[in-house]
Amino acid sequence: MNMNIISIETFTNEYMGLLRLRTDTGEEGWGQTCTYNADITAQVVHRQVAPHVLGLSANDIGLLNRVVLEREHKFPGTYVYRALCGLDTALWDIHAKREGKSVCQLLGGNAISIPVYASSMQRNISPEAEAERFLALKEEFGYSSFKFRVGKECGNDIDQWPGRTEAIVKRVREQLGDDVTLLVDANSAYTPAKAIEVGHMLQDYGVSHFEEPCPYWQPDWTRQVTDALDMDVSGGEQDHDMRIWQHMVNTKVVDIAQPDVCYMGGVTRTLEVASMAQKYNIPVTLHCANLSLVTLFSAHIMGAIPNAGKYLEFSIEGLDYYPWQANIFKPNFDIQNGELIMPHKPGWGIELDPEWLALSDHKVSYCGDRF
Ligand SMILES: [Mg+2]
Repeated sequence: MNMNIISIETFTNEYMGLLRLRTDTGEEGWGQTCTYNADITAQVVHRQVAPHVLGLSANDIGLLNRVVLEREHKFPGTYVYRALCGLDTALWDIHAKREGKSVCQLLGGNAISIPVYASSMQRNISPEAEAERFLALKEEFGYSSFKFRVGKECGNDIDQWPGRTEAIVKRVREQLGDDVTLLVDANSAYTPAKAIEVGHMLQDYGVSHFEEPCPYWQPDWTRQVTDALDMDVSGGEQDHDMRIWQHMVNTKVVDIAQPDVCYMGGVTRTLEVASMAQKYNIPVTLHCANLSLVTLFSAHIMGAIPNAGKYLEFSIEGLDYYPWQANIFKPNFDIQNGELIMPHKPGWGIELDPEWLALSDHKVSYCGDRF
């Protein structure tokens, strides 16, 4: 049955933006725009996304993606994709609810749980404190894989403080033992020569995943590191342009592709990257660095794609570090034995918190023929 889009609403604060889409058949779907500067993104939703799709059929999600991007082809900047993610993820919610399936099931998956790695977002944490909290989390949630930060973000070969990188790798390995999988993220820290030097040290400690060793806008640098090291080099979290993705997989810039659903513009375009990577036998380990809906979107996709990486990123930062994550939706993420439980309720399987919605900035774009 056809359904037409009759309204698009945003519920926003500076960090977080939700989007509700309603149809003339009385159905509604919830999505999320990209986190951070979400108030700016909401303006883009109402200026550059909603006007192009209001009144159109909601049935063909791929077509709606194309309509927005073709109408906005003069402004293909990152904010259009950040905004498009709200539309796309709301449409996937509606389509899955219609079928009485979770989005993961609609995509052909049915995993009852998804293995995760415990992901630290902090760089100013001492090696001792990082290793301590990993150990406590391992005991509480059964994590067996951990990611921590090395180098300095966009660091030009400089460490966060002298000696931190080697000290943290050594400390975490000693404290957690040889049974755990260790991943590190350099966030564009190094030139190729320095990245390869650090990479050899990481390999000596059995670290298996080296993320974003070089500035991400220097793919040829990253490829040198990928070619030189035995360990997996990964990247791609900032990239949303299909030309860049095509180049990344064609020329094997990284061993593991890490698109972010919200930076990509939603589920549809993330699936496109995943299938592009699959053709080159590149696994996809989605980037999801906070506990908003991005982690949920990523879990549903990882549970369904054939080239899903070994684990889903799962942020270990609580409300002390990211207070804006509080009380957005229920139920909360459930981690047992190092895996995220997948309840497979219809759609995204969540309820948004009414109080959070009431406290947000609310804006509506209606279909023009409402009156
Ligand atoms: Mg990263």
